[in-house]
Amino acid sequence: MNEADSEDIAAAFRARGYEVTSELKKADAVVVNTCTVRQKAEDKAISQIGRLRVWKERRPDGKLFVVGCAAQKLGEKYLKGRFDFINEVVGARAIEKFKDSLIRQLGPATEGEAEHRNLFRSPQTAYVTVMRGCSLKCSYCIVPAVRGPAVCLSPKAVLEDAAAKLAAGAKELVLLGQTVNSYRHGRTTFSELLKKVLRLPGLERLRFMSPHPLYYDEAFMKVLAEEPKLARHMHLPAQSGSDRILKAMRRGYTRGQYLDLLARLRRAAPGLAVSTDFIVGYPGETEEDFRDTLRLVEEGRFSLAYCFKYSPRSDRPGMKADISGAETEARLERLLAAVKKNSRVVLEERIGKIEEVLFETDTYGRSSANFAVRVEAGGTPGKLSGVLVAGAEKNTLYGKLI
Ligand code: SAH
Ligand code: SF4
Repeated sequence: MNEADSEDIAAAFRARGYEVTSELKKADAVVVNTCTVRQKAEDKAISQIGRLRVWKERRPDGKLFVVGCAAQKLGEKYLKGRFDFINEVVGARAIEKFKDSLIRQLGPATEGEAEHRNLFRSPQTAYVTVMRGCSLKCSYCIVPAVRGPAVCLSPKAVLEDAAAKLAAGAKELVLLGQTVNSYRHGRTTFSELLKKVLRLPGLERLRFMSPHPLYYDEAFMKVLAEEPKLARHMHLPAQSGSDRILKAMRRGYTRGQYLDLLARLRRAAPGLAVSTDFIVGYPGETEEDFRDTLRLVEEGRFSLAYCFKYSPRSDRPGMKADISGAETEARLERLLAAVKKNSRVVLEERIGKIEEVLFETDTYGRSSANFAVRVEAGGTPGKLSGVLVAGAEKNTLYGKLI
């Protein structure tokens, strides 16, 4: 979500004649787009801002913008009080108002909205925000507080954005929202939105992130089964494999329901790869609860899992990290080892099969199931090709074009 916001911000700068640079020395303006989902992210943002003091001393007319979720949480007063060289603070809730800050600092746009350019993913891939904020209340999560309740963009706005990005050269789109499959605008449901986007000319592949287990329905299963352009991969955060912890987290599903959902998805889309997120060391997590998470890693057959140590985001009673740092660290290590072992098995299952690859160079691309794939030669950037997989090494599949 922050990456998508950063791209919009970069486009607004381009419309004022600016270019993106990775060399701070050359920068006339700096935007720090902050995250606060875990305390570590917020700490990183703060130290990054602190380091910019030197840049600002050398370039007193340079403009520093601090935006995003940590900016929302900490507030303008605190940030400007601590770092008096910040020009503008724009919280995540007001990110659409970023252009007002730009006008204040740099004046109105001098050129038309510049074409989309991808800063983070491959040049073929573009993000399309379909929903901002979140209306769920997972106990550990700060997103609803900093980004506000869920607001869905109109299908018209989504389709215009998607069409513009395809016209600018994107082949693959990623629809974004915190509970993206709960999308609804008027009578348009998520499945209907997918069908509309899938019909846009130039689209080769469609992804979305992040769906929530609560919002899958039969209509979606049908779209998944019938639309080959819908990627054969889903990032479906589980968070824990323990029913007791899932309940405390207010995730709204049990481990059994999550596994049933995986089975339904895989029936609709054979070969579907699923990745996930886990949190370890949630308050009150026992060794038994943690083992349930390890068992879910085995049963879920995930291609990948991002594992996080619980980071308290509120002072509410019961939300303090009550498992020792050393124990949480040990559980994280055990979980990472289990994930590594299982994702290796999942990767090796692809050997001898065909992956549909969207090439980024003549030798490298990503498959529909979201695996990195390498061939010796012959791929065409921006084109889909079948690759017969011959080997697997370090999260990458190796094969031959067919
Ligand atoms: N909306 C998505 C998740 C967004 S946050 C969903 O519900 O699936 C991205 C990930 O950060 C989450 O899946 C979770 O694993 C992790 N996360 C969120 N809050 C956290 C916290 N307080 N401590 C540790 N990890 C956290
Ligand atoms: Fe946070 Fe995701 Fe839960 Fe929303 S659904 S509260 S973003 S973890």
